[in-house]
Amino acid sequence: MNNECKVCEGAGTYEVINRRTEAVEYIECIDCMLDAQFKEHLTIEVSKIISQASHEKLAWMLAKLTVNCVDANKDDDLDRVHNYVKSKDLVSLLNLADAYTQR
Ligand SMILES: [Zn+2]
Repeated sequence: MNNECKVCEGAGTYEVINRRTEAVEYIECIDCMLDAQFKEHLTIEVSKIISQASHEKLAWMLAKLTVNCVDANKDDDLDRVHNYVKSKDLVSLLNLADAYTQR
């Protein structure tokens, strides 16, 4: 959700009064939905272009993003990354990188 959305203030939904039943109903915020669709579209288009880069370049960029994100997160710890590296734990490193893509 977009925390700066002036319509729903980041909730993703907003209240409306159904005049017929006088009940409060929650409507999905169209502004946020369109914003999310645009971001998804951009992600797909960027992915198509970036996929032409070398594996080494992509690996370097993902590694740098992951390390920088972990370092910038006061609730995370670079020792975690270091432990994954020492044990050559590819799955955990990919899961870690993927978790930061969800932020
Ligand atoms: Zn919204």
